[in-house]
Amino acid sequence: MEREKYNYPEVRSAPPDVGVQVRTAEERGALGVVMYRFPADYAPAGPDFVYPHSSYMPPSASPFGTVKLGDGDPLTPFYPAIESAFRIPEEEASLPKIPAQSISYDDAWQILSRMGGAVAPASWQGNLNNTYHTGPGLAHPGWKVNVDVNNNNTQTITYNVVGVITGHEEPDRYVILGNHLDAWLFGGLDPNSGTAAMLELSRVFVHLRNETGWRPRRSLVFCGWGAEEYMAVGSKEWTQQFAKQLSDRAVAYLNVDMALEGNYTLRTMSSPLLTDAVFESAKKVNVYAVHSPPSSVYAVLDVFLERPLRTPRVSIRTPGASIGTPGASRRTPGATIWTPGASLRTQVAAAASEEVNIADKLWR
Ligand SMILES: [Zn+2]
Repeated sequence: MEREKYNYPEVRSAPPDVGVQVRTAEERGALGVVMYRFPADYAPAGPDFVYPHSSYMPPSASPFGTVKLGDGDPLTPFYPAIESAFRIPEEEASLPKIPAQSISYDDAWQILSRMGGAVAPASWQGNLNNTYHTGPGLAHPGWKVNVDVNNNNTQTITYNVVGVITGHEEPDRYVILGNHLDAWLFGGLDPNSGTAAMLELSRVFVHLRNETGWRPRRSLVFCGWGAEEYMAVGSKEWTQQFAKQLSDRAVAYLNVDMALEGNYTLRTMSSPLLTDAVFESAKKVNVYAVHSPPSSVYAVLDVFLERPLRTPRVSIRTPGASIGTPGASRRTPGATIWTPGASLRTQVAAAASEEVNIADKLWR
């Protein structure tokens, strides 16, 4: 698809909200959106401290993600996408109507340094070594940007894979573990670092059951979600299909996506109620640390403390050991169904302050 002219102003919002960016641009009459990630957000330590020297984004990397708004199958809003379900026409679905293309921040500089119009407000000035202008249009009347988007718009079937170890005492109460099956690229980190953990967990549980006759008190449900990268399609549709049973019977959900981040240690997020449990477990579980002498055995907690997270969004949580908040992730399926008592918003706020307390406690 080709659009003739880059004649819309620059749009900017918080990094994850690309769907909102595109929708807003569409509503304001944009013909297309060219997206990039600010190095201020994704390479805050400067151009010399990016991949492969760190986990920060290099200048040539193009980000990826979905620009769809809202969770789940866009053709079955508010009800499960089972085979017999009615599908609304695609034109009525919550999908962007304009093309969107991501580019690297190196390439973005080429466009931004040629933008015309007024100088952007100070808060919009990034660190791409040019003065930002808001447009509309480029500085020279003869200049234009062509946007070629080579996506194939297809509808396809995706599957969830669900396995159950039936509970011994409370078989109708569920402890659910889940991770997604799809990935944008090779998925080394997202989701496959979690996939490795999830597969090992299910192997150990099945081995335990087969060898010793052990059964969990409640049923363990292992879920592999389809099409999560397109706004949690598989998990959303599953929770819509089983909303009643899950509301009554689900005890907890453990999302096993992305077990690691750039600092090679376990990555955890939890509601405040579980933070003590996570830290207590981290003291008990030993690991062989990859970059340490081969025979060294550390508690997971030691590794937390040795390797503070360095990504910008968690750097305020120093020293190192921190537990994020699952409510902050729109990818946690059914979080709103399974959050007992307090509203999700309250939990997230509480979790944020709890993190500081935990960090304090650990260093005392
Ligand atoms: Zn993921």
